[in-house]
Amino acid sequence: MQLKTITIHAGTVFDPKIKKFRENVSVMIDPRAGSIVKVVHRDGSAVDMKKGDIDLRDKIVMPGFVDAHTHIFLHSYKERPSLEQMRDESIVERTIRATNHVRRALLSGYTTYRDLGTEGMASFDTNVRDAINRGIIPGPRLFVATECLASTGSYQLRLENTANGAAGPRISDACDGVVGVRAAVRRRVADGADIIKFYADYSRKAMRFPPVATGGSSIGIQFPPKEPNPHVVMFNQDEMNAIVDEANLAGLPVACHASTAKGAVMAAKAGVTSVEHGNMRGDMAPEDVLKEMRRNNTIYVPTLAIMEFLSVSGMQRTAKQAFDMGVRLAAGGDTGAFNHGEGAWEMELMIEAGIPLEDVLEACMLGGWESCGKDRCGYKFGWFEEGNRADIIALDADPRIDKGALRKVSFVMKDGKVWKEGGVPVGME
Ligand SMILES: [Zn+2]
Repeated sequence: MQLKTITIHAGTVFDPKIKKFRENVSVMIDPRAGSIVKVVHRDGSAVDMKKGDIDLRDKIVMPGFVDAHTHIFLHSYKERPSLEQMRDESIVERTIRATNHVRRALLSGYTTYRDLGTEGMASFDTNVRDAINRGIIPGPRLFVATECLASTGSYQLRLENTANGAAGPRISDACDGVVGVRAAVRRRVADGADIIKFYADYSRKAMRFPPVATGGSSIGIQFPPKEPNPHVVMFNQDEMNAIVDEANLAGLPVACHASTAKGAVMAAKAGVTSVEHGNMRGDMAPEDVLKEMRRNNTIYVPTLAIMEFLSVSGMQRTAKQAFDMGVRLAAGGDTGAFNHGEGAWEMELMIEAGIPLEDVLEACMLGGWESCGKDRCGYKFGWFEEGNRADIIALDADPRIDKGALRKVSFVMKDGKVWKEGGVPVGME
């Protein structure tokens, strides 16, 4: 028989609401509702252990991590470039991989994923989300974007040989004009999206000066111009405004890929929930872009981990500058481009950028919840409070002392169910 309540007794707990570690806290949980019943501050370390209670007094306990930018169908680009994954891996392989990815993510302490686009898997992310929610497979709570929106001829696979019908899968829902983008948002909503993602800009001139094809056996062009394929804005302001307005009608948050300064400013003005990447390409000073984001309460997800493939130090400076200016941050690594289960890398890079540990943890908890749309997402998570989801993790080491502590997650509970205890997966039979 399932117990009515169980209590987790913690020694040290991180509280993101006050950005502080506190001692001697117990959290009572209703396992059937999967939620927190109450949070108790004890006088000392002594506890009254009841049947089913969990003793985590020698661990560092905190709310489950929220990765604000993931792709469940992708695995490390170092294992295989994204083009090959999207073009060559079967729907079955990608689904089986995603099943492994979400399990690994959960075991590494990520109890929520904001998954920003299937990258060639249509709207099948909704089915993975539902399989998790139905208890069929273990994984984080998923908020999914299905296909991202992009203007015609922009975010799509380019194959030089299109004879005999050769084609890659569709990787975005192409849409144009105010009427067209509204229709695209409606298609996403109908497919089950929890969040709308669009591309403010992209390098969309790939076929003008074709690059070296993957595999290394063919060549690019001999004398490419200085910028063969620059990042350019690809929706106008009216279109971006319409995307956000239409998403608002459906009660959904909006994430915007922006790697140009201009694209980020336009997205912020349109009222997007978050700007992803924010590489600030172009003439505008990053400071002016960040000011616009702060003015519009735009959440910034700098995706530092994926930037390791490009230039992470510049992006770390921008992330630190954003933090110093008071721009709201969320932690999301573009996880999938590097392997699931290593999401803590993003937090490590944020800390390395000079952002205090407590602020980074908060960005990975409350910041994550806010990027999912706050109350509009239908759940409360990211901090401990009566009624919130019982998403609780514990580290074997103290992150204030041990730089590698965020990867030492030995206990994971999501929705009141334990998935990892004593460093070992449980309940996965
Ligand atoms: Zn991404």
